[in-house]
Amino acid sequence: MTDFTTSIDADGVAVITWDVPNKSMNVMSLEGFAALDTQIDAALADDAVKGIVITSGKKDFAGGMDLNVIAKMKEDAGDEPARGLFEGTMNMHGVLRKIERAGMDPKTNKGGKPIASALPGTAVGIGLELPLSTHRIFAADNPKAKIGLPEIMVGIFPGAGGTTRLVRKMGAMAASPYLLEGKLLAPTAAMRAGLIDEVVADPVAAAKEWVLNAKDADILKPWDAKGYKMPGGTPYHPAGFMTFVGASAMVHGKTNGVYPAAKALLSAVYEGAQVPFDTALKIEARWFTNVLMNPSSAAMIRSLFINKEALDKGAVRPDVADETVKKVGVLGAGMMGAGIAFVSAKAGINVVLIDNSQEAADRGKGYAEGILDKGIKRQKVTPEKKDAVLGLINATTDYAALADCDLIVEAVFEDMGVKAEVTKKTEAIIPEDAIFATNTSTLPITGLAKASARPDQFIGIHFFSPVDKMMLVEIIKGRETGDRAVAKALDFVRQIRKTPIVVNDARFFYANRCILPYANEGIRMIAEGVEPAMIENAATLVGMPVGPLQLTDEVSIDLSAKILRATRDGMGDAYVASPSDDIIESMEADGRLGRKANAGFYEYDDKGKRTGLWSGLGEAHAAAEEQPDLTEVQHRLLFAQALEAVRALEEGVLMDIREGDVGAILGWGFAPWSGGPFSWLDILGAAKAVEVCDALTAKFGERFTTPALLRDMADKGETFYGRFAPAKAA
Ligand code: NAD
Repeated sequence: MTDFTTSIDADGVAVITWDVPNKSMNVMSLEGFAALDTQIDAALADDAVKGIVITSGKKDFAGGMDLNVIAKMKEDAGDEPARGLFEGTMNMHGVLRKIERAGMDPKTNKGGKPIASALPGTAVGIGLELPLSTHRIFAADNPKAKIGLPEIMVGIFPGAGGTTRLVRKMGAMAASPYLLEGKLLAPTAAMRAGLIDEVVADPVAAAKEWVLNAKDADILKPWDAKGYKMPGGTPYHPAGFMTFVGASAMVHGKTNGVYPAAKALLSAVYEGAQVPFDTALKIEARWFTNVLMNPSSAAMIRSLFINKEALDKGAVRPDVADETVKKVGVLGAGMMGAGIAFVSAKAGINVVLIDNSQEAADRGKGYAEGILDKGIKRQKVTPEKKDAVLGLINATTDYAALADCDLIVEAVFEDMGVKAEVTKKTEAIIPEDAIFATNTSTLPITGLAKASARPDQFIGIHFFSPVDKMMLVEIIKGRETGDRAVAKALDFVRQIRKTPIVVNDARFFYANRCILPYANEGIRMIAEGVEPAMIENAATLVGMPVGPLQLTDEVSIDLSAKILRATRDGMGDAYVASPSDDIIESMEADGRLGRKANAGFYEYDDKGKRTGLWSGLGEAHAAAEEQPDLTEVQHRLLFAQALEAVRALEEGVLMDIREGDVGAILGWGFAPWSGGPFSWLDILGAAKAVEVCDALTAKFGERFTTPALLRDMADKGETFYGRFAPAKAA
């Protein structure tokens, strides 16, 4: 069985079909590349073959490179991983360049065999880089298909010639949304943008016809022809100069310099634009190797690709029978309930959406309608799809409608009494074997389970707001939660295409436990006289998506105050007061409740747009004459989060560091360049982390106390991913 096979038709067209055995989507492996190479060699050498069409045996063309290959290339090269990566990459270039040159005479550029690609559906990553090396790209008119180069999203860049070819094909400026932002397009839009050539009903037939009629000039790439000029100009052309200066500033502005891939990509483009094509490929390979050797890229690939996929596929699912959800009952049609109902119906699940009044239930369903209408406006949703999704949501006040639900997700007010009442009322109606989940963000699952007659079937399924955008779902096991409830929750999360993590019950579970200290650390710095702008900039410069003050404004100051009071009451004498408490409570008293009030740590205009930090902050808390060192501020902000993650692991709340890292990036945007808190500590090194923590503890207090686990790892010279290797993890 091989990934590529060839059949030659009566007209002399060799159709090379990519069809990786036992996979629903083609992904490229080293063996795949070797098989492609063999088939291309054979077709080029065969006199009976007049032209070649490369297509797929599946409904899509390809989902990209199997990124495990990168780890393998590194490993196989032993002491010289960079050499292994560079040579492996150059080998890929060799195969694709052979396709591009197609046997042409190097001097006359004549005599090559036309090669076209025929894409039935999605073609991303290497799935587009391979077609880009062919002479013409035909795609099926399949609006669901996605075409593009999303590598940058996992911390690398297109390194199989996609970067060099796209820039030479469309110019650096035009290529930048696809290379730098990983923008994906449906086929028609991809054709208009110039990523592919034609959208047709039958791409294989069209490609066959084209290769049979193509002339020498049709198959010569512009960059291989005499007098080629790069569209938009090279870096030393006046127009090109403007592009490159602007792009450099823009990339730095967007990434704050913490994403090595964006910088390396830009370098590959800048340097590659000034040399002949084959040298440009070599430069691309060098920068690609450089990125792959960077610990940040390796950590991003591990968390955002390998481990995320493992979790999506149920890496931590208990071994119990299929628990696919058929009908879900959502209790409470407020902000969260409405979102949960929408994502469930969108996944084709029947939904009963309950609230106290018909009006509130209808409003919840209206939320789904609003999102679908927006989708129709943007041509992402058809009116039929809208009707189908809305048709799955039964908005009602009648609990009897829950009678045949196999899963309940409760999202009523955050109140123990109200939740206990709806739990009892619902359990009296639902089937004996149904699973009851609560979406609480602060109340212990074990405590809420006391209202349940079947605590082994009671679990937490914690969504993040806004539900339709946030990809993480935290599943929380109460003390008595059984395996079937965990499996049900995981199967539900898989159905709605989000990423799950499973944690044990503890105050604030995992994500909120880590993010609250981040916000508080930022706010307490104000009390110490640190410039608010410095606090915010330190955070974004180290890769946090928003600073702690902006985050608090988004969450709302009154919610922060509510959480603070509940924590203080819940912890009693164990609660350690913080200067941030006073700031939160005084802002609440002054009605500066954050974004929703158009006033918080920031000022806002009438449209709710942030206009700058609130000038009144400086009056209440004068900035100290001497400002702290930037790195110290950044360490405080990152360690405030990372130490909670380590404590959650030590306490057994977190059971798998992969979940800790993936959850941190998807849940609250922990500096994605680092791969998550555990990856970040590994990059820093346990010994250095201990040194910083000890210094922070001496200067700022006990909250930075080095966890025993971290100290032990420093003593033994261990890393988190070494000590908690996935084999050991669940
Ligand atoms: P919300 O106030 O917007 O909605 C709650 C809804 O529940 C209201 O429509 C209310 O009418 C309804 N309700 C109250 N009692 C009811 C009852 N007895 N029967 C049926 N419906 C009833 O609140 P929300 O922000 O959607 O939060 C809901 C839950 O989700 C809370 O437990 C909250 O802690 C949790 N949560 C919220 C967020 C967030 O960012 N807002 C994030 C994660 C989890």
